[in-house]
Amino acid sequence: MKAFRYDRATSVEGAVKALADGAAVLKANGIDVLDRLKERVAEPDRVVTLVDVPGLDRIELDGGVLRLGAMTTLAALAASPLVARASPALAEAAGGAASPALRNRATLGGNLGQHTRCGYYRLKSFPCFKRGDAICPVRIEGGVQENAGVFDNAPCACAHPSSVAPVLGAAGAVVRVRGKAGERVVPFASIYGPVKQGQVTDLALANDDVIVGVDVPALRPGVDREGTYEVRHKAAFDWALVTCAVRCAVEGGVIRAASVWMGSVAPSPWRSERAEQALIGQGLTAATAAAAAEAAVVGAQPLPGTAYKLDLVRASVRRALAAAWERR
Ligand SMILES: Cc1cc2nc3c(=O)[nH]c(=O)nc-3n(C[C@H](O)[C@H](O)[C@H](O)COP(=O)(O)OP(=O)(O)OC[C@H]3O[C@@H](n4cnc5c(N)ncnc54)[C@H](O)[C@@H]3O)c2cc1C
Repeated sequence: MKAFRYDRATSVEGAVKALADGAAVLKANGIDVLDRLKERVAEPDRVVTLVDVPGLDRIELDGGVLRLGAMTTLAALAASPLVARASPALAEAAGGAASPALRNRATLGGNLGQHTRCGYYRLKSFPCFKRGDAICPVRIEGGVQENAGVFDNAPCACAHPSSVAPVLGAAGAVVRVRGKAGERVVPFASIYGPVKQGQVTDLALANDDVIVGVDVPALRPGVDREGTYEVRHKAAFDWALVTCAVRCAVEGGVIRAASVWMGSVAPSPWRSERAEQALIGQGLTAATAAAAAEAAVVGAQPLPGTAYKLDLVRASVRRALAAAWERR
């Protein structure tokens, strides 16, 4: 690990200022950042941490909006009765990610900002498009493709691994971001951007933008239903192979609005408008779920090593919908 200065900000404004020169990396509780420092994938002169900034770990239900601070841990999200009431799928996703020890440290902001788990990105001895090389080794013959994306996977085939992000996308959350011009509200769909050569983060934010929190519309009793489902190699201590989260507004047994998001299938959390269209106007039936699952794979461009993910996409869409139907 390269030596760096450790900068303990005591306010969000202080963190924004400390990040302004572009030479520093922002750290929440450091699970992902420290991995990258140890592997020398990141070699900043300074690390700015949010651990001493007060008030970033709140969980509040304010009218119909669940307000979450960026330093809230996944364990706190999973244990909160407010989260369970406002977004049970969020509690489930947070409680199923990683391991208990990791969930006690992993923060919401860090979960959204975590970098891809692509093995080529994580090991500096390999070339990597995100780290500035001309090629993505996943895409060349013989490349290890198992964890790669099936949508939007050229020129880089990395996949965003957050379990929590698809639930927030499906819920229509907004992200509160503080930058040098003050605080602004960014729709969830706009916080991620396209992969660019030499750009390691998936967040479409400036280096001195700090996520302060996430506001999640609470489920409307008797109207909204939500569910999430993850396929993993094993139940514990693993990232998902595919995640799907859905939220539907249902009136008189008919789906009036639908939001379907997936994780680990594209460089950013992936919204499937085709699956949404297959749901809207339909009843809550197995046939509707099957149609949405089929619609969700339209447009996928799997590599030879990721073709298996299409069945996982279909299964996770069906099961996320089944979870939403069962939860009233
Ligand atoms: C073995 C293992 C298994 C895992 N399994 C899963 C899983 O199943 N599902 C899942 O979702 N995750 C999983 N994770 C990832 C884990 O949840 C994340 O690494 C963790 O949430 C990161 O939180 P952190 O506070 O440590 O972030 P940090 O490591 O401090 O930061 C991560 C990134 O986010 C950025 N960042 C942090 N906070 C902010 C902020 N407020 N504003 C802007 N940017 C910010 C940082 O700059 C950095 O780039 C796993 C991790 C491990 C090690």
